[in-house]
This record gives sequence, C-alpha cells and structure tokens, in this order.
Amino acid sequence: MTTRSIVASGAAIAALVMSLPLGAQQRAIQPSKFTRAPMTQALPAGEVEVLPVRGNVYALFGAGANIVVSVGNDGVLLVDAGRAEMSDKVLAAVQRLQREWAVRNEPPSIGFGAETRSSVAGRHITAPPKPIRYVINTSADSDHVGGNEKLRNAGHTFTGGNVTGNIADATEGAAILAHENVLTRLSRGTNVAQAEGQTPVPADALPTDAYFVDFYKLSHYFNGEGIQLFHTPKAHTDGDSIVHFRGSDVIALGDLMSTGSYPVIDVAKGGTINGVLDGLNRVLDMSIAEFRLEGGTLMVPGHGRLVDSADVAYYRDMLTIIRDRVEDLIKKGRTLEQVKAANPSGDYDTEYGSTTGPWTTANFIEAVYKTLNAVRLKPDTTGGKPAPPARRR
Ligand SMILES: [Zn+2]
Repeated sequence: MTTRSIVASGAAIAALVMSLPLGAQQRAIQPSKFTRAPMTQALPAGEVEVLPVRGNVYALFGAGANIVVSVGNDGVLLVDAGRAEMSDKVLAAVQRLQREWAVRNEPPSIGFGAETRSSVAGRHITAPPKPIRYVINTSADSDHVGGNEKLRNAGHTFTGGNVTGNIADATEGAAILAHENVLTRLSRGTNVAQAEGQTPVPADALPTDAYFVDFYKLSHYFNGEGIQLFHTPKAHTDGDSIVHFRGSDVIALGDLMSTGSYPVIDVAKGGTINGVLDGLNRVLDMSIAEFRLEGGTLMVPGHGRLVDSADVAYYRDMLTIIRDRVEDLIKKGRTLEQVKAANPSGDYDTEYGSTTGPWTTANFIEAVYKTLNAVRLKPDTTGGKPAPPARRR
C-alpha cells in the first residue's frame, strides 16, 4: 500500500469516526497498526548506509548502533563502533568518505595562460587518507563497542614529542574515549561479564581514555570544531555519553533515544526512566531550532533515523506522560502486574511498542515501574528536608 492510499484511507476513517455516536467514537479511535505509515525505508540487510548530516559530520546506519563520523584534515573521529562482524564494512565506508572528502577538498590547480604542463596526473595524486584518531563509545553495549578493536587498530594516536617512546603503544591505534563506567564494565573478568550479560572484549577494544566527571572535551579543535562528551547519568545505563559537535551543531545521542522503540532502560546496569528524561531535557537545552522547532541542531539517535529538536521534544513528552501514569499507579499501590494490565503506554504502542524481540513494551513498563519504585522505597537520606521538585516543562 502506498503512503498516498494510507493517507486517503486515514481521512476516510476520520470522517467515518466523526459520524459515529460518542461511545462508538471512543472505541473507534483505539490505535491500530493500519493508521501508521512507515517512517523510514528499511536498509538492505548487512549493508552500511552513509548519510551526510552537516559539514564534516556523517552518520552510518546498518552496522548495529548508528555511527557518527567526523572526516577532515585532522583525520577521522567515530562515535560508536557498531557490531564486531560489521567492522570491515564500516572501515570501507569510512575510507570511501575520506577519499570523497579528499577529492572535494583538493587544492585548486594553478592555471597559466601559456600552460604547457599537463595537470591531469597531478589531480590524481592525493595525499593518503588521514587515520582514524578517536573512537568514542556512548555505552558498553556490544552493538556500540563491537567494532572497537578493528577500528582502533586501523587508526593512529598522535602524542607530543616528550611522550612518544615513553608509552609503548602511544602510536599504535586510535584512542578510545568513554565514561569510566564503560571501561569498568568492559574490563571485568569473563565470568563477571557474562553474569552481567556483557560480552567480554579483547584488551585492544578497551577505552584508552576514560572520564569520570560531568563532561570531557577534546583539548583542541578536531576537523575545525570543538567536540564535547557529556555524561547522562542513570539513563540507558550508568555510563552513557552524548557527543556534541559544536561547529556542525550535531549531537550523537547514543541510546538515550531510539526512533522506533521505547528507550532501552538497562536497570541492571544503572539505567532509570528519570535519568533518560533528564538526558533528553539536557539535549533540548543544548539544541536550537532553525524555525518553529524544526531543523537547527541535528541529532543522531543510537538507533533509528536522524532527528531534530521537535522529534526529541515529542519523544520526551511521550516518556513523561507514560512515566507520570506509572507513577500515579504506583502511588495507588498497584503491583507490577496490575500496572502492566492498566496498559499505561497503550496510545503510543503502535509507534514504539513491541511484543517480540529483545525490548518489548512489557520490558519497558517493568523498567519504568522498577526504577520509579526504587526511588519511592529508597530510605530518606535528606534529614527531613523536602526533596527538590522534579524538573518539568
Ligand atoms: Zn544501542
């Protein structure tokens, strides 16, 4: 069915609904799979698609988690590395981007009025592509860090003259940056890692630089802009980062958002619904729309399509509504099973819900319930002072 015919039948349904008595109208406006047009076209399986985002920044889709790439004079920086088995295709896509960038930014050939030399040969001699210098991991999930080892080993770290030679591997491979909870999680022994549902990674895949404060920034411009990492505490997990390309005004969101599903809140790894909402509010604080909430700052979520601040605000509102409904049910003393039965996400399930796969609607509601209940049951450590009101807009 084409989009046009879906729209036409949507209008016909709306007309039909309006002609029904009120009780029947309420039954008729139950969400249905029929009313949803596809948001994005599915990628060919096993292929990596490249999308220019803005300036030097590109997004790669189809390698596991979405990858954000900065390509330019200083080399390559990647946010997330995709799944291990997709590394060769990611590398091929990065190299293609580098070649295309080099051709586009070739110095103009000098022309003389009485030119006798051919400039054709010169035009085909381009400098070798600059190496991958940084890989940033937004979380420790295997579809985000799986490619670390191969991408790192394809790259190169530059260090100052007084350091080179002192650190044995200073010039071997790219630097991998992440929040320290990602490093801790990835460097645990095999048994602990498996008990936590974490795939153990080889030493070369571990972050080389970890930060433990609120944010981290590259000390110099990279490809003409500042790049900052911000920790979003207790969101998808306890070690998530978002990455802001300040000049291009692009933000890599990691698993704070996924356009086709409810956010994955990994409770066992410290994720909470309120942390996800805080993270999304922070992203909205950082972003500036071009016109009436559309365009402007562009965001690449961990999974799904490219978004702008309107999309993020809609997603934040949707999660806030569901959070408030679950909170209300908890206050009324409902059990998890009763909360699930009350279907607090019902009107959004058509767009974000799932009954199958690794992250179902039931999984999401359970994570919301557990993390809200944990807050409610936490012993009072404020010494009787009232807690600050929750941040709302
Ligand atoms: Zn992910």
